[in-house]
Amino acid sequence: MHNVVILGSGCAGNTAAIYTARAGLNPLVFEGHEPGGQLSITTEVENFPGFPEGIMGPELVANMKKQAERFGGQFKYGTVVEADLSKRPFRLSVDGEWLETRTLIVASGASARWLNLPNEQKLIGHGVSSCATCDGFFYRDKQIMVIGGGDSAMEEANFLTRFGRDVTIVHRRDTFRASKIMLDRAQNNPKIKWLTNTVVEDLHDVEQGVVTGVTLKNLQTGDVWRQDVDGFFVAIGHIPNTKPFVGQLDLDEDGYIISHGGARTNIRGVFHAGDVQDRIYRQAITASGAGCMAAMEAERFLEAEGH
Ligand SMILES: Cc1cc2nc3c(=O)[nH]c(=O)nc-3n(C[C@H](O)[C@H](O)[C@H](O)COP(=O)(O)OP(=O)(O)OC[C@H]3O[C@@H](n4cnc5c(N)ncnc54)[C@H](O)[C@@H]3O)c2cc1C
Repeated sequence: MHNVVILGSGCAGNTAAIYTARAGLNPLVFEGHEPGGQLSITTEVENFPGFPEGIMGPELVANMKKQAERFGGQFKYGTVVEADLSKRPFRLSVDGEWLETRTLIVASGASARWLNLPNEQKLIGHGVSSCATCDGFFYRDKQIMVIGGGDSAMEEANFLTRFGRDVTIVHRRDTFRASKIMLDRAQNNPKIKWLTNTVVEDLHDVEQGVVTGVTLKNLQTGDVWRQDVDGFFVAIGHIPNTKPFVGQLDLDEDGYIISHGGARTNIRGVFHAGDVQDRIYRQAITASGAGCMAAMEAERFLEAEGH
């Protein structure tokens, strides 16, 4: 029987592990399909407080893990595939093996949707990004492309005009899912150019290890051409990792956990932390802050129950 099981070893899960470990609760962290979370696939992080020179994403999450281990946090490879939260102790199936826990912190993140282009994954952190707030700063006076037709694509494109020489929105249709106000704002921004009815076929240049351009295709004319690009931002949404909890935790229409105040979910003893609940800020520091909140709530819950 575990006191605290934490799902996810990104900033939220690792911070929750530091706090619950220091509280003497011997947390067990399952690392899931992406140990270290989203920061493990990026390069430089310049906006996490405490690192004036910046720090590499994988190093930052590895440091957090080490910090939790120092106080007794345990980390295991494994993914929670099924859960029974109908009564306490909660039961979790980790790759088919069931275990029990008094409290659960769900810090399983929301994975960015990618285009699945042949070279996309190889160039993440080297010109390919899913986060304008995180990476816009690296593209001062550069050519930027944003892929998508929803509110987040419009928001990212508008934000990126602060940095880029120009920003081109590429969208596969000529109608947009974005709300009128967001679309109007983007359409009235003189730095934004538009390529509609157009898809990206590939990214270049893996040999140089950095994005230099894209191959585009116009779906109406069939024209294929190459265009220079420095920063390639994919803004086609995120998928919250909440599949094992469907029908048990309150989720919104996209699958994000609905908060019941603080770090609480609709089930007493189950807490949320990080991007799995936060569809707005989605930053390393906010995920860490949420991990701290979830840990403190779990600790108080256990204390009140006499553990
Ligand atoms: C390319 C890129 C660059 C970024 N750069 C920055 C930046 O410079 N600054 C910044 O502040 N933010 C940045 N971000 C955003 C930041 O990475 C996220 O906001 C942050 O990682 C969210 O942390 P999290 O712990 O909530 O989730 P995640 O980091 O997504 O971690 C989720 C964890 O849950 C695990 N998991 C998922 N499902 C299960 C399951 N069923 N069972 C067990 N484990 C599971 C995963 O394996 C993973 O370990 C960037 C994101 C990306 C993609």
